[in-house]
Amino acid sequence: MVDLIQPNHLHSFKGGLKLKHHKNDSLNNGLSRLKIPDDLYISLRINRGNIAKPIVKVGDSVLKGQVIAKPDNTRGCYIHASSSGIVAAIDERETASPDADISTVIHIQTDKEDKWIKLPLQESLDTKKIDAFTADKIITAIHDGGLVGLGGAGFPTHLKYSNGNKQKPINTLIINGAECEPYITCDEQLMMDYADDLIIGSLLLMKAAGAKNAVFAIEDQVGGIKSELESKLKERDITDISVVKVPTIYPAGGEKQLIKVLTGLEVPTSGLPLDLGIIVQNVGTIKALCDYVTHHKPLVERVITVAGDSINKAQNFIVPIGTPIKYLLEQADCQFASTHRIIIGGPMMGYAMPNSDIGIDKTSNCILALTEENTQHHGETLPCIRCGECVNVCPAELLPQQLHWYINGGNLEKAREHHLFDCIECGACAWVCPSQIKLVDYYRYAKSELKYLDFKRTKSDEAQIRHEQREARIERLKQERIAKRKKTRSRTRNKDKMQQDLKAVLDRVNTAKETKDQLDE
Ligand code: SF4
Ligand code: SF4
Repeated sequence: MVDLIQPNHLHSFKGGLKLKHHKNDSLNNGLSRLKIPDDLYISLRINRGNIAKPIVKVGDSVLKGQVIAKPDNTRGCYIHASSSGIVAAIDERETASPDADISTVIHIQTDKEDKWIKLPLQESLDTKKIDAFTADKIITAIHDGGLVGLGGAGFPTHLKYSNGNKQKPINTLIINGAECEPYITCDEQLMMDYADDLIIGSLLLMKAAGAKNAVFAIEDQVGGIKSELESKLKERDITDISVVKVPTIYPAGGEKQLIKVLTGLEVPTSGLPLDLGIIVQNVGTIKALCDYVTHHKPLVERVITVAGDSINKAQNFIVPIGTPIKYLLEQADCQFASTHRIIIGGPMMGYAMPNSDIGIDKTSNCILALTEENTQHHGETLPCIRCGECVNVCPAELLPQQLHWYINGGNLEKAREHHLFDCIECGACAWVCPSQIKLVDYYRYAKSELKYLDFKRTKSDEAQIRHEQREARIERLKQERIAKRKKTRSRTRNKDKMQQDLKAVLDRVNTAKETKDQLDE
């Protein structure tokens, strides 16, 4: 397979926005590891719906890195305690997901000792030792380490590689370091502080996928990361990984848009990057893999950006999963009185949180605290004026106003027909809408309704199939019984006839015998 990416020949996607960035606010203050909070609220929900099953009970002592919940199907992932302490509760609470969905949460009261489970001896893993790892061993590590896509979607990482190995040949691994949201810098920070780990993690993932090459995709506005990564790759004589700068146009970091920019190829509707021989992985996930393979540390912490105009000291923090939002805001010196909205994620794709007691999850890349003035929708929502601005910026080439029209009118199936599921919820349409219509809220609502209807339909189809199979089985048994009865009847008839024939023969023999006896006399 030819190289899919020509660094000097990039492409563009339709639509998109040039946004004002606020990245220096957090980057200037560097990366800090925070003290362990008193309480951790660890959600067992991942990937918008899959819920792991708890294997600890209230009152249990747990150690950092201990498995506290297990997946009950192949699409789930392990959840580990992110610090040591006591399980104080396992209950249904709001989580750091869209609409702050209620899900099972394990509340750990920490003992502040942050004591790890017994870990195997740490290995120093340099790039030359990677040959000792098989693809299966790396995929197992991805699963056991509880890895999910840390860029926001939370897709269980092992699924990409299991599919890749068994069904489709993979040519290229794209390492997504192109954060396109205006405030988020956690990936940029990771690339600045952990370039060595990212190179090791990338080599491991290339091996897991069987990829021929890999490319770090970073925004063209970032500083010295490109030269730093390139010199580290050169030192190690690695020629199959390159670094490419992509234009800072929102949402260039979206999976489909990034593939389009780098390769010119379009991921088919309802298709996956795997269909093009490509896997896209966020830099945070790659660092997490390196941590697990090198230090046997599962995914129990992440880098998160805390920023916004209500924050006095915007910064990136390394924090345990489950850290309450409020604790993070306090560390960044948030002006709570002037905070109008708290958002998980960026201003474009993020979702508002109803309170700050919610714990962050594996996919939480940013917490924004915004004043009313800086909140996107702060005016009255007006009717659509059909200006077409939303169409101009939609990177998925959809008709956002049309989708809104169908959904508002309750015609969800029409919205599906108009490719609602191609919407990446980037928020560009809502950003430019002069009528301040919360378009993405409509799309999220319609998608979840349609998924629920599909689920119900599948269940009812399954019930119908089961009913038809039962009817067919009953009919088959009935026919078998009739056939058996016919057979028995014909066997009886045959038997009667045989007996009659036999009797006739015997009669004839007896008659013959009598005749002979008479003649003898
Ligand atoms: S931008 Fe808003 S007002 Fe304009 S067409 Fe789209 S939905 Fe309607
Ligand atoms: S949110 Fe969906 S419809 Fe709106 S611009 Fe983004 S992809 Fe297009």
